Amino acid sequence: MSKSIDPQANRLPELSAHHQDPHAYPDGVAFLDGQYLPMSQAKISVLDWGFLHSDATYDTVHVWDGRFFRLDLHLDRFFGGLEKLRMTIPFDREGVAEILHNCVALSGHRAAYVEMLCTRGASPTFSRDPREAVNRFMAFAVPFGSVANAEQLQRGLHVAISDKVRIPPASIDPAIKNYHWLDLVRGLYDAYDRGAETALVLDFNGNVAEGPGFNVFCVDDGKLSTPAVGVLPGITRRTVFDLCAEAGLAVTAADVSVAALRQSDEVFITSTAGGIMPVTMIDGVPVADGKVGAITKRLMAIYWQKHEDPAWSTPVHYP
Ligand code: PLP
Repeated sequence: MSKSIDPQANRLPELSAHHQDPHAYPDGVAFLDGQYLPMSQAKISVLDWGFLHSDATYDTVHVWDGRFFRLDLHLDRFFGGLEKLRMTIPFDREGVAEILHNCVALSGHRAAYVEMLCTRGASPTFSRDPREAVNRFMAFAVPFGSVANAEQLQRGLHVAISDKVRIPPASIDPAIKNYHWLDLVRGLYDAYDRGAETALVLDFNGNVAEGPGFNVFCVDDGKLSTPAVGVLPGITRRTVFDLCAEAGLAVTAADVSVAALRQSDEVFITSTAGGIMPVTMIDGVPVADGKVGAITKRLMAIYWQKHEDPAWSTPVHYP
């Protein structure tokens, strides 16, 4: 790996602040109602539909070594979600990109987790008609965080497969990145109860779907597959397809049964928060020999190399 990822280094100041003060905020900058603010001052009404009804869409892009990774793809997905939810914001793509650059530049972070989001907003009369709510755009940049910590990246995550079913696409189009996470959070508690570190939940047919903030891949006889339906089309998932095309590896989106996942040669998860992260234990049983697989290692290395490539990344406009 040319650039090794050490999310723990980015997390330590945040964690120690929390230990001192349970109301502390991570160090960062938010954009809200036309102003750039420290995270501690970025507050919205409890009457906002985003809070009351999870009526919101968002996207998260990361900055690594002072560069946004695949920002255009994140903007595409965010604007797609806004359109599907019939939300409008007073900024176009360039305007949102500029706000994201400003949040990161003002925060000074070289490795950041950067979120753009829009809530339905609130209406002055507390109307039940969503058309009367004033949509609210926000953005923020805080230190980069990863699903897997440094030790887990090294030895692989220990995952449990929960019997919770991810909200089906007939209810919510998963391409609209959303905060409907109760299924995922219940899956996480199932995982903790069984001594695992994170969870995978199922799709409406009982196949493997995704986890809290990540997609999943398995490798069999050198061929990769990832669940096709009922999952967020992750940008890191898409990046794995692009990397496989370059590396000459076969990859498909198809149903992945629980049994197939358990019998795979290699398993890894993908997220903007951490990239490509190995899984070496499922429900207490090692995946293959329990070591991080060769294809996973290779993809992790090229994934981080791409962060320096101008075709895949853009420098933040620091002052
Ligand atoms: N699935 C869910 C439910 C997510 O929330 C996320 C990211 O937050 C992902 C998958 C991974 O998507 P991406 O690679 O775009 O971060």
